[in-house]
Amino acid sequence: MASRHSNPLLHLNDQDGSYPPSWYAATATGIPKTQSLQGDHRCDVAVIGGGFTGLSAALHLAERGYSVRLLDAHRIGWGASGRNGGQVGTGQRVAQDELEQKVDSSLARDAWQIAEEAKGLVTDLIARHQIPCDYRRGSIHANHRRRYDDHSRRFVDLLNERYDYDEIRYVPPDEMQALVGCKGYSAGTLDMGAGHLHPLNYALGIARAAMTAGAVLFENSEVTHIDTGDPVRLYTAQGSLTARYVLYACNGYIGSLEKSIGRRVMPINNYIIATEPLNDETVRGLIANGACVSDSRFVVNYFRCSADNRMLFGGGESYGYRFPRDIKTFVQRYMLKIYPNLKDTKVEYGWGGTLAITMSRLPYFQRHSANIFSASGYSGSGVALATGAGAMLAEAIDGVASRFDVMNRLPTPSFPGGSALRSPLLALAMTWFAIRDRL
Ligand SMILES: Cc1cc2nc3c(=O)[nH]c(=O)nc-3n(C[C@H](O)[C@H](O)[C@H](O)COP(=O)(O)OP(=O)(O)OC[C@H]3O[C@@H](n4cnc5c(N)ncnc54)[C@H](O)[C@@H]3O)c2cc1C
Repeated sequence: MASRHSNPLLHLNDQDGSYPPSWYAATATGIPKTQSLQGDHRCDVAVIGGGFTGLSAALHLAERGYSVRLLDAHRIGWGASGRNGGQVGTGQRVAQDELEQKVDSSLARDAWQIAEEAKGLVTDLIARHQIPCDYRRGSIHANHRRRYDDHSRRFVDLLNERYDYDEIRYVPPDEMQALVGCKGYSAGTLDMGAGHLHPLNYALGIARAAMTAGAVLFENSEVTHIDTGDPVRLYTAQGSLTARYVLYACNGYIGSLEKSIGRRVMPINNYIIATEPLNDETVRGLIANGACVSDSRFVVNYFRCSADNRMLFGGGESYGYRFPRDIKTFVQRYMLKIYPNLKDTKVEYGWGGTLAITMSRLPYFQRHSANIFSASGYSGSGVALATGAGAMLAEAIDGVASRFDVMNRLPTPSFPGGSALRSPLLALAMTWFAIRDRL
């Protein structure tokens, strides 16, 4: 008999089966037609989760000839993948110099290479499948304290010289002020190898490509119970799926479906607003070169202008499970600290999403048994890394696990106190980091 596992975040903040009230959902194109799982089905690989991880895995597995069934509890791209800042970053979430301190140099180099391949896969998929997602090059990292400027210079030198990565350069304070039209930042970096996109349209594009390759996607099909073994049997309210392999691609929404993931990967909510459309001159005054921006705060502000000239601003985290009642006002406070000149600009959309972090900020790739795999915990850098993870999961199932094994070797310690205590402890730690941001 199927028992219901507990997963509050899948249902707490959103309407079942509907996209959140985001600017992305309002401008989504090419939503594929799907059904929910009814009756009993069989396949080679069952993928749980229709975000970048699951969709990319489904596409790459179908291209390799596997029969694939993907199940999402709500809609394709309903989770973090359809709600995020759209920033396509370079490297792992942990900066490469910090990574070199954490792991041996050959592992650090392999992880860098994998992240570069993941970023390349994003632009490759967009080009190959003609995904209309407004991809634009350029990413600025802006220091909110002058004391970080030396580090930016050294970081650029490291990437230019040791990693032959010459897309990134140091941006001195006066140029930064001109690029990001506000006074709150000192120096930083500009990375033309990184960029930004419309994440929901990107997810929907991968979904269409996966379907064309033969994968079958089911929406409104929450997996409530799993019988592990060989084969594995998955149950939803109205059907079941028997599969040789299973991939968990649930990231922050995994709940207690696989408890061992919850010890190392923790959900965390984050919020974005979209203003009304602005005129071209105002947009150029906000971010002169059309890049996306993230800053050096631990509780990071990240922002960019959309293809239709809106300021999309993300900031503010909360450590309970519930979204704030008034997300627009909650995030607007952060935006006005950076751009007080937007005080009379109307905020038209505000939404939240759940991402997943690990203690080390490095993703958690795991082989739970011979036929069950997972990848999650991208810690806010999943546009590229989750897309890459899907390809690596597909390779691992197909018997080529070298890249998956590199990611599996990255350290991702358990949260102290396991899944019960991790939230209160995180709230304490984040309060400290938020205070430190202001010093
Ligand atoms: C507000 C916000 C801003 C962000 N900004 C950025 C950014 O600018 N750049 C960046 O690189 N990353 C960013 N991220 C992180 C990025 O969005 C994630 O790392 C990435 O989308 C993870 O993809 P995923 O496929 O692993 O998970 P998700 O996209 O969350 O997908 C998981 C899916 O699993 C489904 N699911 C869960 N449990 C079940 C079940 N039992 N049965 C069936 N389906 C289930 C859910 O419905 C969901 O659709 C941000 C995240 C948020 C929330």
